[in-house]
Amino acid sequence: NGTASDRTVILVTGGTGLVGEAIRWVIDNDLDPRFRRREGEEWIFLSSKDGDLMSWDDTARVFDKYRPTNVLHLAAMVGGLFKNMKYKLDFYRNNMLMTDNVLHNAHLKDVNKVISCLSTCVFPDKTPYPIDETMVHSGPPHDSNFGYAYAKRMVDVANRAYHEQYGRQFTSVIPTNIFGPHDNWHLDDAHVIPALVHKCYLAKKNNTPFIVAGSGTPLRQFIYSRDLARLFVWVLRDYQEIDPIILSVGEEDEITIRQVADTIVDKLAFKGDYRWDSTKADGQLKKTASNAKLRKYLPDFKFTPFDQAMEETVKWFLENYETLRK
Ligand code: NDP
Repeated sequence: NGTASDRTVILVTGGTGLVGEAIRWVIDNDLDPRFRRREGEEWIFLSSKDGDLMSWDDTARVFDKYRPTNVLHLAAMVGGLFKNMKYKLDFYRNNMLMTDNVLHNAHLKDVNKVISCLSTCVFPDKTPYPIDETMVHSGPPHDSNFGYAYAKRMVDVANRAYHEQYGRQFTSVIPTNIFGPHDNWHLDDAHVIPALVHKCYLAKKNNTPFIVAGSGTPLRQFIYSRDLARLFVWVLRDYQEIDPIILSVGEEDEITIRQVADTIVDKLAFKGDYRWDSTKADGQLKKTASNAKLRKYLPDFKFTPFDQAMEETVKWFLENYETLRK
C-alpha cells in the first residue's frame, strides 16, 4: 500500500543464505540502533522457492509482487575451492543470469538503489598487495575460480553502465571470506571454515583422525556474517558511490588456515589425531585486501574478535546440526 514515494520496501535476494540470515538477525536484534530496521521499512527475504532468479519470468514476477524500492542482491551460486574448480561453467553462467535478471528488473521497475555482492576471489591472481577496490579488473583471476570471478566482475561493469547510461544507483560490496550461523556445511563443497567445522565434528563423533587438506599456510581475512550484515545496513543507508567497497577486517587481522583449524579443534574440544594433507590444493596463498576505504568512512566500526565469532558459530552449528545445510 502507499504511493511510490512513501514506501520503503527492501528486497533481499538470497535472503535464506549465510549473509541474508545475518542481515535478518541484525535488523531485528542488534544492540546498536544504527543497524536495526527503521520504522515503516518493510524487509522481504527471498529464497529460491520464491522464484528462480536465473529465470527472467520468475524474477519479473517477484519484482512485480513486492515492488521494492531497494534491493540487496545476495543470491548467487557460491562455494569453496573444490566446488569452484569442478563447475566453472555453472559458476559463470548461473551468476551472469542472476545478475542480469535482477539488475535489469530493478532498472525497469525504477528501484532506487541496488547493492550486489562481489568477492575478493574476483581480484587478479598476480597482483601487488594489499589489494584495493581499484584493482577489480586489473588482470586475470586465479584459475581455480575464473568462472565465478569473471561473472562477479561483470556486476561492476553492469553497475557502471546502468549509472552512466541511466543514472542508476547500483553499487557493490566486496566481502572477504564470510562465516557464521546458517552457512553451508557441506564437507566437500563448502567454504573452508564450515567444511572444517563439520569435518572435525565428525572426526570427534566417529573417533577418526581430523585430516585437513593443504599445507595450512595460506593467509585469509575472515569476516563474521553479523559484522558484514551491519556493514550492509550502513551501505544501504549511507554509501553513495557506484564503485565497490571492500568490507573486511584489516590486514593486521589476516590469519593462516592453520590458525583457523586450531581454533576449530579448540572450540569443538577435539582431542584426537589432527594432521595436514599437503598433497591437496591450497588455492591462492594470500589475497590480502585493504579496508582503508571502509575505515575512511567508518573509522570506529568494531569487528567481533575471531575467537568470539567462532565460538558463536560453532555453538550455532552444534545446536542446529540436524537441520542445517550439509
Ligand atoms: P549462500 O549459499 O549461503 O546463500 C545463497 C542464497 O542464494 C540462498 O538464499 C539461495 O536460496 C539463493 N539462491 C541461490 N540460487 C538461486 C536462484 N537460482 N534463484 C534464487 N535464489 C537463489 O550464499 P552466501 O550468503 O554465502 O553469499 C551471499 C553473497 O555473498 C553471494 O553473492 C556471494 O557470492 C557473496 N560472497 C560470499 C562469500 C562467502 O564467503 N560466503 C564471500 C564473498 C562473497 P535457497 O536458500 O532457497 O537455496
